Amino acid sequence: MARNVKHVLIGREEIAGMVRSVGARINADYAGREVMLVCVLKGACVFLSDLMRVLDVPVAIDFMSVSSYGSGTSTTGTVRILRDLDADIAGKHVIVVEDIVDTGLTLRYLKEMLSTRRPASIAVCAAFDKPARRKVHVEVEYVGMTIPDEFIVGYGLDFGGKYRNLPDVCVLSDDDGQGGTK
Ligand code: 5GP
Repeated sequence: MARNVKHVLIGREEIAGMVRSVGARINADYAGREVMLVCVLKGACVFLSDLMRVLDVPVAIDFMSVSSYGSGTSTTGTVRILRDLDADIAGKHVIVVEDIVDTGLTLRYLKEMLSTRRPASIAVCAAFDKPARRKVHVEVEYVGMTIPDEFIVGYGLDFGGKYRNLPDVCVLSDDDGQGGTK
């Protein structure tokens, strides 16, 4: 079914304000330390590039790609690593940068898996959070914005690989399932 943008849920100015405030919290919490931002591709790439530019602590970045959705339309709980980090995170202060927390399954897996690599600390920073859909508990230290249970696109988030380039967070028409592909 064809889907079009129905309405803007979060405009670009509001998103910019969210990035500044989450960045200020990270700057305060990590003052005097160096952080390793781990970007979960592909959805978090826009958030990462905004977030890293408001940080004034020393920053290194790395990327992971995981697949949390099967071929169907909802999270299966099976998380596959499609691309692993280049860097060794042992002894580093890691912040996992995610686009959105939905069921929590992806982040719970990632946090547990990365913890086994002995980072000095590990935290999660998600641009958006949909707590209404949570299936498992996962500590998300930095949440940009809590949103209602709507399937969103834009600001890095896709439907069927499209819409990531929209500067605003939007809701699509013809809500016939969830087809995010990380
Ligand atoms: P979780 O494991 O928390 O259920 O899944 C998180 C991932 O599902 C996100 O990183 C994102 O790729 C995808 N996802 C969850 N909710 C949405 C949404 O509203 N829109 C889009 N485009 N993807 C979503």
